[in-house]
Amino acid sequence: MGPPGAGKGTQGELLAKHMGVPRLSTGEMLREARANRTELGRRAQAYMDQGDLVPDEVVLGLVAEAVDGARSQEGFVLDGFPRTIAQAEGLSDILEARGAQIDGVIFLEVPEEELVRRITGRSANESRTDDDPETVRRRLQVYRAETEPVIRWYADHDVRLIEADGVGSIDEIQRGLRRLLDS
Ligand code: AMP
Repeated sequence: MGPPGAGKGTQGELLAKHMGVPRLSTGEMLREARANRTELGRRAQAYMDQGDLVPDEVVLGLVAEAVDGARSQEGFVLDGFPRTIAQAEGLSDILEARGAQIDGVIFLEVPEEELVRRITGRSANESRTDDDPETVRRRLQVYRAETEPVIRWYADHDVRLIEADGVGSIDEIQRGLRRLLDS
């Protein structure tokens, strides 16, 4: 977990590779559905373009499917999910029904000025349609209102919360993350 621009995708991918498990990214699943112009992708598009969250039941459906697809493996890294308390509750149900549980929640900490600088500075090949300054502001606002409370929710539900420093080079951040996970 972490605000937009915290590096969840980059760090999640490296961590998943390191652990030999798949990374399940709801943002990527949604962008793919959109690019393939599926019914679900069309439904998600308007929300994504505004910097708003796609409805919980849509995202939960995608995650349940992805978890089933990844079941033969030794777990997975979830990236950018859950983003609301309803999603956190839905995830608990999905995992419980499959005899699994969350090992830990990693929170990537990055100060706000650094986030805006990073997102608006993404070079052309990595920039996204939701990276314009106004949409970025909206995504940050949605994050504070909907996603930040999820961290507290996990703390209240005795889930191990790992707070990692999200500032530094990609390698430094990844090394710090692995150290925290090993300890
Ligand atoms: P991301 O790549 O994780 O930043 O996600 C890009 C966009 O996809 C977000 O701004 C949302 O519109 C949508 N999205 C991704 N994950 C979720 C989620 N867990 N819940 C709702 N919307 C999501």
